[in-house]
Amino acid sequence: MSYNPLRGRKPQLDDFVNVLPVRSKKNLISVKRGYLTHCVGQNHLDKNPSMGLMQGDNNVIVKCFADKCSKQELLQYFYDRLEYYKFKPKGKIKYFKRRGVNAW
Ligand SMILES: [Zn+2]
Repeated sequence: MSYNPLRGRKPQLDDFVNVLPVRSKKNLISVKRGYLTHCVGQNHLDKNPSMGLMQGDNNVIVKCFADKCSKQELLQYFYDRLEYYKFKPKGKIKYFKRRGVNAW
């Protein structure tokens, strides 16, 4: 396994914003604790920003306010693009935690 330069650093709101598609980046609206922007759901081409990105206490919270996209689908978009998550096999995070491999 290759060395993870981002080890120990959990993605923050800005990291999530960094990997947004251009369309969403161009239309970031500041709201309390985060942003409202165009949804990254595959089948959801919203006319007006409908996805919330907010800094929670422990994690970044992603939500489609149009209720068209599941939280899992939206999170998958970010998991595929953020370096931090690329070192963890998809869907196996809990498994690795149990095995005590999460030294991140
Ligand atoms: Zn959506």
